[in-house]
Amino acid sequence: MVYQRSSALFQEAQTVIPGGVNSPVRAFKAVGGTPIFVEKAKGAYLYDVDGNQLIDYINSWGPMILGHAHVPVVNAVIEKAQKGTSFGMPTEIETDIAALAVRMVPGIEKIRFVNSGTEACMSAVRLARGYTGKDKIIKFAGCYHGHSDSFLIQAGSGAVTFGTPNSPGVTKGTAKDTLLATYNDLENVAQLIQDNKDEIACIILEPVAGNMGCIPPADRFLQGLRTLCDANNILLIFDEVMTGFRLAKGGAQELYNVNADIVTFGKVIGGGLPVGAFAARAEIMNHLAPLGPVYQAGTLSGNPLAMAAGLAMLTELNSNAEVFDSLEKKTAYLHKGLREVMVKNGVAHTINRVGSMLSIHFSEAPVVDFKTAAHASGENFKLFFHGMLQEGVYIAPSAYETWFLCDALTYLDLDKTIEAANSVAQKLA
Ligand code: PMP
Repeated sequence: MVYQRSSALFQEAQTVIPGGVNSPVRAFKAVGGTPIFVEKAKGAYLYDVDGNQLIDYINSWGPMILGHAHVPVVNAVIEKAQKGTSFGMPTEIETDIAALAVRMVPGIEKIRFVNSGTEACMSAVRLARGYTGKDKIIKFAGCYHGHSDSFLIQAGSGAVTFGTPNSPGVTKGTAKDTLLATYNDLENVAQLIQDNKDEIACIILEPVAGNMGCIPPADRFLQGLRTLCDANNILLIFDEVMTGFRLAKGGAQELYNVNADIVTFGKVIGGGLPVGAFAARAEIMNHLAPLGPVYQAGTLSGNPLAMAAGLAMLTELNSNAEVFDSLEKKTAYLHKGLREVMVKNGVAHTINRVGSMLSIHFSEAPVVDFKTAAHASGENFKLFFHGMLQEGVYIAPSAYETWFLCDALTYLDLDKTIEAANSVAQKLA
């Protein structure tokens, strides 16, 4: 495949945009080479500016559960845009999507919309602090909750890919209120709580981690956190920016039958438009302005185009429960196929998967937390990434990311992907 025009556009972009990108991981720095500039996408495929067709396993980092340019979502946006793109005033559709989300997600009674996952998590933590009157938070090494200051402490995803998990610009004062725990290690969390008695407002985590590759919660981990939170007057925040409406209608809370106190959403809830949201039972949400003292706001929050796209998306996911089943089967099929070719070619690997989230780490040791994820071979990942790209398969350009499948993928696409992985694996061994 040739990426001549992408390369020229990247050169040009770098003259006016830092690193040529508006979000670091897009720059391919971890894997080298030229980022691909997209022309358009439809269903399971990306079409780049050089005319290449790629099978997409990123799906805009999660939201395209039903595939790109899904007709009901596109139509909803077009129809709304014709009536105006932003008012900064209430609209009926905000209540429609809020009511639907409250019906779909366990344990929530009210929801507020923002413009990104970062905002959702940042606001959720402020709310938890305001509600509990405590300052400290616990986050897990390798979990990413957006780029707000409190979270850039051993964050996963791009922040690790670039080797700057503790970003300059985050003050010591902010950093001291973020306590770091090890994912899947309940004893570690219990110890932190013990050492900071009555000071911790909340524990925030990805209930299935997706920013150090895909790491499932160990048996009883989420339940154990719930118990620790209840015993210590700490709010449990599930960051469901990736998992919400993807792993089940009600997200990871439904899948694992554990309820959080506050849940955050992103991307999926806006059908791919710039949206985030946070939600909880009314008693907590009523602490937000204008009802309560915890301030949070946004000119474009509840934007009509984003609400229209999100409502179209959620309506379909709500009425078509088969989507989750179908995604589970397709991803299980891919998982099995990838495992077989890695084994056949003698490549040391670990594939983690929950529903339609999956990742490959090039290490034989189980990958259960940030440390074990970091132990995997970065060299093999680079070779694998570029090999797959040459075969027309687009996976995330970093080992600290997850594959997201969409239901537009056919079994033929999955077979092509497995074949591609087979030819690449021969070169890895
Ligand atoms: N939380 C999680 C779990 C995420 O994966 C991300 C982004 N990938 C965010 C929060 C931040 O969302 P956004 O990029 O929309 O700010």
